[in-house]
Amino acid sequence: MDQNLKNPIEFSEAELRSAFIDAEFATVLPTLAYLTKDMSLLKSHLQADPLLFRNERNGLSAEQVAEITEIAIEVLRRNKKLEAENQMLISKSELLKIMEFCIGGTLPLEYLGLLEEELAASSEDLRAPKWKFENFGEVKSFHVGIIGAGMSGLLCGKRLKDAGISFTIFEKNLDVGGTWYENIYPGCRVDIPNFLYSYSCFQSKEWPNFFSTQPTLLEYFRRFADAYELRDHIRFGVSVTETKLLEESLTWAISLEKQGVEEVVHVDVVVSAVGQLNIPNIPSFEDEHKFRGEIFHSAVWPKDLDLNDKCVSVIGTGASAIQFVPKISEIAKKVRVFQRTPSWFNFAENYHAEVPDGLKLLFQIIPSYSEWYRLWLFWHSSENMIEACRVPLDWNGDESSVGELNDAFRARLASHLQNQYQGYSEILEKVTPNYPPGAKRIVVDNGSWAEALKKDNVSLITEKIESFTEDGIKTDSGTVFNSEVIIYATGFKATDFLTPMNFVGRNGITLNEFWSGDARAYLGVVIPNFPNLFLLFGPNTNTVVNGSAIFFSECSVNYVLDCLRLLNTKKKSMIECEINKFNEFNQNLDAKNSGMIWGASAVGSWYKNKFGRVSQIWPFSVSEYWKLTKKADEKDFHFF
Ligand SMILES: Cc1cc2nc3c(=O)[nH]c(=O)nc-3n(C[C@H](O)[C@H](O)[C@H](O)COP(=O)(O)OP(=O)(O)OC[C@H]3O[C@@H](n4cnc5c(N)ncnc54)[C@H](O)[C@@H]3O)c2cc1C
Repeated sequence: MDQNLKNPIEFSEAELRSAFIDAEFATVLPTLAYLTKDMSLLKSHLQADPLLFRNERNGLSAEQVAEITEIAIEVLRRNKKLEAENQMLISKSELLKIMEFCIGGTLPLEYLGLLEEELAASSEDLRAPKWKFENFGEVKSFHVGIIGAGMSGLLCGKRLKDAGISFTIFEKNLDVGGTWYENIYPGCRVDIPNFLYSYSCFQSKEWPNFFSTQPTLLEYFRRFADAYELRDHIRFGVSVTETKLLEESLTWAISLEKQGVEEVVHVDVVVSAVGQLNIPNIPSFEDEHKFRGEIFHSAVWPKDLDLNDKCVSVIGTGASAIQFVPKISEIAKKVRVFQRTPSWFNFAENYHAEVPDGLKLLFQIIPSYSEWYRLWLFWHSSENMIEACRVPLDWNGDESSVGELNDAFRARLASHLQNQYQGYSEILEKVTPNYPPGAKRIVVDNGSWAEALKKDNVSLITEKIESFTEDGIKTDSGTVFNSEVIIYATGFKATDFLTPMNFVGRNGITLNEFWSGDARAYLGVVIPNFPNLFLLFGPNTNTVVNGSAIFFSECSVNYVLDCLRLLNTKKKSMIECEINKFNEFNQNLDAKNSGMIWGASAVGSWYKNKFGRVSQIWPFSVSEYWKLTKKADEKDFHFF
């Protein structure tokens, strides 16, 4: 339990009452029941309805909220007792009962462990490996090379440190953070609540916003690196160019490049943590070289860029454009946004909101309240959404209706659009997707995109871009839109996993040859022919509507560590995934993805590679990924 918590006794009843106005009510009673072990606090008439979780007051009525506040204040006033009871261990059956109340449904017992790990309310780090490398006795020296010091690479470093395994992280940038170091465009922020977008073992009670901005996220990953003293293990400013298996010595040779100087280092294990969204995708247009103004991709936003009074063209209407267009529209003379396919929007009222003072205070004075809030977000953002994306077996391919749940999902999102564009029917028509929600990435917003598009200095252009001219962009109607600046908001080369690095595995086979442009891995982590190579945020470990990338990386890292445990238990040098297991897994995965709307819909998306196969998305529940990555099964590998 956090030692820095404030004591509720320091606050008057009036101050507590005032703080509770800002509470997240669904998790107040579960938290108090957890702290006091008083199960009678779980009053069924005060349980939040999971279907209303997006609504004001978490879907609870004013009367319910008032009653929860009274109960909470009464419990907090008995603070001394509360503190004493904090020390007691809660039984599994009590914990299950509280969790079921919290999520608003029954919980299969096998997932209690998952939620316990996600909650992480005790001081014990439940996802840390339960073994130490030194306990394996006589094993040869063992060093791991990690490529990338973003969210995934840092986590892997911490877990290797927990297990006492030595490692080096090779990072091409000059600091940690990956995505959150590189993407500095105005308005850049997470689009899932960052109480959830955080490591379970490194939660924060102090997020300034519900969806924090890039500088806050970068700061968070810097703090993580510092807290676990990871910087001493990182070599900054070095790019990995090639990674080659040396079959005679059963090691990997990593070729590095730093400011033109090349170097080769040898390691026993390689972990690639280069992310999926690291290489900007820049489409080709006729005569693109002719444009004389400034042109760049949103991921490499020039630090000293001044868009004041400029005519700016933005190509793309995905997650990044939606974040920066409202910002630049405040200063630019003209903003032309070129849209190919509109996005569906999930409406989040608090998308730009600061965490109110009352809630901040409650997180500070009620032990584990922020953790329970995170758990509640985890469940509702992860496991509650996926059913609406499942395609019924008898679906006839009509993209306007994909079964009851998806239709209801569409109706909810469409009604948000209609509300936002009242009186602007021409824009409404342009921004309303003609494909089902879930077929492409759903973007989060609080209406700021609609407000920007309605401004006099902003126009949404749906004509096809034909070519660039010296002065701007020409569309297929022959119109030339003069521009001083063109910004590509065209996303990343998400399906080109691990590029442009070259990986050479057994018998000289390269990853490019093995994949032939169709990246696959067993559980997104291991690949036949490439022993002792592990991928984080690898193929099919991303999600459309459920969960955070951090959760997936936590599970993948857990799996990597368990593979290393197996390897050392068997006193072997290399662990390699069985091809049959790999094939069987990918067949099941593909079958499942083709039954999900992102696989079945004809609309294009960055989830699909050039063969039309979904190479990004995990189609099962997130609990399933947790279960499968919890333990590495030696039958799935061979060792040498
Ligand atoms: C703008 C943006 C917003 C996002 N928002 C969300 C969100 O709200 N919720 C969510 O769940 N996910 C989100 N994601 C996806 C994901 O969470 C992030 O991309 C996350 O940072 C992934 O972490 P990572 O460590 O796997 O990869 P990255 O953060 O991409 O880090 C990879 C690191 O590897 C380094 N690297 C790459 N190649 C080499 C090389 N050859 N040699 C040495 N170093 C190399 C890079 O410099 C980088 O530091 C977002 C992604 C982007 C781009």
